[in-house]
Amino acid sequence: MATHHTKMLIIGSGPAGYSAAIYGARAMLEPIVVQGLQPGGQLTITTDVENYPGFADVIQGPWLMEQMQAQAEHVGTRMMWDTIVEVDLDGGPPFRAIGDSGDEYIGDTLVICTGAQAKWLGVPGEQELGGKGVSACATCDGFFYRGKKVAVIGGGNTAVEEALYLTNHSDDVTLIHRRDELRSEKILQERLFKNPKISTLWNKTVESFAAGEDGTLGHIVLRDTVSGEVSTLEVDGAFVAIGHAPATELFKGKLPLDGGGYLLTEPGSPKTEIPGVFAAGDVTDHTYRQAVTAAGMGCMAALDAERFLAARED
Ligand SMILES: Cc1cc2nc3c(=O)[nH]c(=O)nc-3n(C[C@H](O)[C@H](O)[C@H](O)COP(=O)(O)OP(=O)(O)OC[C@H]3O[C@@H](n4cnc5c(N)ncnc54)[C@H](O)[C@@H]3O)c2cc1C
Repeated sequence: MATHHTKMLIIGSGPAGYSAAIYGARAMLEPIVVQGLQPGGQLTITTDVENYPGFADVIQGPWLMEQMQAQAEHVGTRMMWDTIVEVDLDGGPPFRAIGDSGDEYIGDTLVICTGAQAKWLGVPGEQELGGKGVSACATCDGFFYRGKKVAVIGGGNTAVEEALYLTNHSDDVTLIHRRDELRSEKILQERLFKNPKISTLWNKTVESFAAGEDGTLGHIVLRDTVSGEVSTLEVDGAFVAIGHAPATELFKGKLPLDGGGYLLTEPGSPKTEIPGVFAAGDVTDHTYRQAVTAAGMGCMAALDAERFLAARED
């Protein structure tokens, strides 16, 4: 078991963590990134990325994250293949974190970038057709379904927002919900019901996703929750929009969380309630959830961490 000390301890290695590391390293804070179980974060499980600025041609998610990691390392970041299992924020700075390896990490500042995971239905075909017609992000993937037939599964704000967003690309959007009314805000419902491009299928659960002849999504198998009847819906794309789970288990009772479990920060800032502890990316953002916004927040957190340390030296 070893102890590692740094001026900037970063938990998480998605776009937020790597961006914080790039800025932190260039400010001579010699950051340590504890990468967690998914080095590179959520973009490592996708294929085409067309909306990260700086690349005129389509790039691959895993490649983009390899580049970010390499860039962070080139400027002086230390990467640790470890997962934090416990944090002690009392009385800090410094803040203490314990890795699954048994190693101890001490940070004069702490930047939390543990991200979030989309919730999936867990039905047959969903995983196999991920990136081949099944997605959990209309902002990310909607563009690939221009002029095609798509469905959104869910009944909350996210599902309605995703359906409305998809009408920018498709004239045939079906919202599938397991109940006969939506949970989303009334104003969103009004917009949805007024939109001629969106139809609704009530009282339906997804039994499975099935591939067409070309190996991409061909149809969704549905079951009526009232009659039990099974039917199929032919679509080119299906967007699962049943929510996200932020990775904040470690911080329960230690930092304030909102009702959805996201870390709360000062509005417009990565500062948490504890001076010297910052949060960036999807772990604190249930609105935008994009690689570029996560990277931007990582940059903000690193700049604030640097200012925090400088003020302590004065
Ligand atoms: C399939 C898919 C496709 C997408 N496509 C796009 C796209 O085209 N364009 C776009 O802009 N966005 C896209 N997104 C969204 C984008 O990936 C996220 O907004 C972005 O990755 C969030 O970055 P993050 O750094 O906040 O967290 P994440 O990428 O979620 O990374 C979280 C990191 O925290 C680590 N971690 C978690 N817990 C611990 C712990 N206890 N100890 C140590 N480490 C920990 C994980 O290992 C991981 O490295 C997509 C998302 C998905 C799922």
